[in-house]
Amino acid sequence: MKKQLIMAQYIWIDGRMPTAMLRSKVRVIPAVHRLKDIPNWGFDGSSTEQATTSKSDCALRPVYYLPDPILGGKNIMVMCEVLNSDGRPHKSNTRVRLRQAVKAHKSAQPLFGFEQEYTMYDKPGEWPYGWPGEGFPGPQGPYYCGEGANDVNGRPLVVAHTIACMTAGIRIYGTNAEVMPSQWEFQIGPLGPLGVADQMWLARWLLYRLGEPMGISPRLDPKPIAKGDWNGAGCHVNFSTRQMRAQGGLTEIVRACKKLGRFHNQHIVVYGTDNEKRLTGKYETCDINTFRYGVSDRGASIRIPMSTAKAGRGYLEDRRPAANCDPYLVCTALLETVCGSGFKP
Ligand code: ADP
Ligand code: MN
Ligand code: MN
Ligand code: MN
Repeated sequence: MKKQLIMAQYIWIDGRMPTAMLRSKVRVIPAVHRLKDIPNWGFDGSSTEQATTSKSDCALRPVYYLPDPILGGKNIMVMCEVLNSDGRPHKSNTRVRLRQAVKAHKSAQPLFGFEQEYTMYDKPGEWPYGWPGEGFPGPQGPYYCGEGANDVNGRPLVVAHTIACMTAGIRIYGTNAEVMPSQWEFQIGPLGPLGVADQMWLARWLLYRLGEPMGISPRLDPKPIAKGDWNGAGCHVNFSTRQMRAQGGLTEIVRACKKLGRFHNQHIVVYGTDNEKRLTGKYETCDINTFRYGVSDRGASIRIPMSTAKAGRGYLEDRRPAANCDPYLVCTALLETVCGSGFKP
């Protein structure tokens, strides 16, 4: 009997500076049942800022896959690590370091939940989707968690994306309309570090891919509209260890906050590009040069949720990462600082 053929969407992170983005291409392969049935592949690294023209070959190593919810059937999405042609990790491959951190701190049983904020752009206009011509919508206030009566727009993409994530088996936790019109959020988790980071990248890919036929271009710029009173876009990261979730965990959470304060500058290095435009001390942020933690404080660097403070255990919320952060690097930094001896970028 002939084997059924499927489309495998190979997805990887490119080498663009200062903010890497996703690339993908399709390979038609026999239907698979295990990760190791998916063949390694390659691409032209000179077209993705990962190699020179004379030594252009980079390799793709499949590390995680899920059903492709857009194509359906047995088609799959494959998250890949990028390797040099000699098989060693490419310098843009930030997942390698997370793998090592995960191994070192397994006994802490870390869990992560990401809140991904993003802004929908109008492709031809280079202006937020649904904003009037070259002008501005009414001032912020009604849009957060609003609907049509508050001039909220772009929901068809949000709904399609949520369904796609659920269908693929991505642990999507929820979604909401944000403070700035055409800005939205989805949450992923709670999951272990590699799972949450791989799923974050696949969820981003699905968002971009679903926006294509709708003429919507989702962007992760931390401060899309710099002039005027418009919120930035962040990527809060909720984090806990077994100790934090256990009875008396609040003591451990406070200890973690103090330690995070000592490594504030090191963390900021990997918390996203242009984050200084967002972390100004306004619009529910703490300014980039200050570290502060507090219960229920949305102006702090780290917020201890009210529910955690009341229960005496739970998780902390790192509010510093920007929307365009690399989840592999953010998870590495939190693991190495909270569970290890401190993060060095
Ligand atoms: P906010 O009130 O800050 O807007 P959200 O409801 O948007 O919070 O997101 C909450 C996030 O917290 C989700 O991503 C969820 O996965 C995560 N989360 C919940 N419990 C835990 C936990 N014990 N450890 C780590 N993350 C958690
Ligand atoms: Mn949220
Ligand atoms: Mn938010
Ligand atoms: Mn939050």
